[in-house]
Formats: sequence, C-alpha cells, structure tokens
Amino acid sequence: MRLVILGGPGSGKSTQARQLCHHLGIVEISSGNILRRAIASQTDLGQKAQPYVEKGELVPDEILIEFMRQRLLQPDTAKGWVLEGYPRTAFQAEELDFLLEDLNQQLDWAIYLTVPESVMMTRSVARSQNYAKDSTTSAKSRLDDHPEIVPRRIELFHERTVPILEYYDYRQKLLTINGDQPPEQVQQNILHKLELEN
Ligand code: AMP
Repeated sequence: MRLVILGGPGSGKSTQARQLCHHLGIVEISSGNILRRAIASQTDLGQKAQPYVEKGELVPDEILIEFMRQRLLQPDTAKGWVLEGYPRTAFQAEELDFLLEDLNQQLDWAIYLTVPESVMMTRSVARSQNYAKDSTTSAKSRLDDHPEIVPRRIELFHERTVPILEYYDYRQKLLTINGDQPPEQVQQNILHKLELEN
C-alpha cells in the first residue's frame, strides 16, 4: 500500500504514520526526519536545508523533490510506504505523481488528519516544551519546534498544503479523518476507512 499522510503541525501525522507502517509492514518515510538527520550530520542536503528548517519555512521544492526521488528508489520501498510531511506543496504533489508514473506505481490514498487550529497550536507548543525539558542532543536538534515559529508553520500549512487536498480529492484519493481524538481512535478510523475503500 502506498499512502501519503497530510495535516498541519501537531495534527498527529508522525504518530499515525508510525503506527500504520507497523500495522501494514511497510516503511515510513518522513521528510522532516530526513531533513533533521541531514542537518545533524551536516550533509550537503542538511546544509542547504538548515536555514529554512530553523525558521519554519519550507525547504525549496527542487531540493526536496530530488531527495525524495532518491529515497523512493531504495529497495526497502518495494512493499509500499507511508510518506509523512511530503508532499507539502501542489508542485511536490504533481512531481510525486510523475515519479510514480515513471516507476509504474500508484498512490493508493492521501489521508488528511483534520484538527482545529487551536489544537495545532497547543500540541506544537507542548511538544516544543517537552523537547526543551529533554537535554539529549537529538532533542536539541528540533530547532523547528520552537514555539515562536509555530504560527508561521500553521500559516504555511494553510497557504501551501491545503491546496493539495483539492488535488487529491479531484483524483478521488482523499480520505479525511478527524485527528482531534485519542491517537488509538484516529488509527482505528484510518484502518477502518482503508478497509472500506479496498
Ligand atoms: P516536519 O517535521 O514534517 O514538520 O518538518 C520540519 C521542517 O522540515 C518543516 O518546517 C520544513 O522546514 C521542512 N520540511 C519538511 N518536509 C518538507 C517538505 N515536504 N517541503 C518543504 N519543507 C519541508
């Protein structure tokens, strides 16, 4: 199964993606994690991406598209995947479709986790406070979770990512799930909808 998981900051995308991958035995590909790892090890990609990630801005499409292309060509993706945090712009969504066409593959569903903006805000700020309490190096590298950049991340979600919903809806690939519920309930709702649609 090939899935994309969409939602604003704090919508529960990564929690749901992880559980779905575990359940379906497929790989999770998180653009945010890829970028954070690249920044921590200061690879070429990391150096290019760092100024954007630190400010909560989107990394330019060309950089991400090429990187995701490489990632989706790896052999561990053969059984399927859940993409988390990608695509985030209409251009990335189109490029993903072109890439899948090249690979003779098809996206099954785009799962959209809806949560009110107030929930995005409180969850994201709570997450940044938890990271601040934790003094390990990996936690410190969550520069993108500083409370002061949360409003910008929410703004970008509305401006750049919401238009993708229409793109998938038009292609009859969109499954909308209420993300403002306990995580186990959200997961059950996703699995239920996937079964119904198959
Ligand atoms: P995330 O953990 O998914 O919220 O991503 C953290 C940060 O990485 C974002 O605030 C962006 O700066 C960057 N990022 C992640 N995915 C993308 C993407 N698909 N396009 C552009 N920038 C991205």
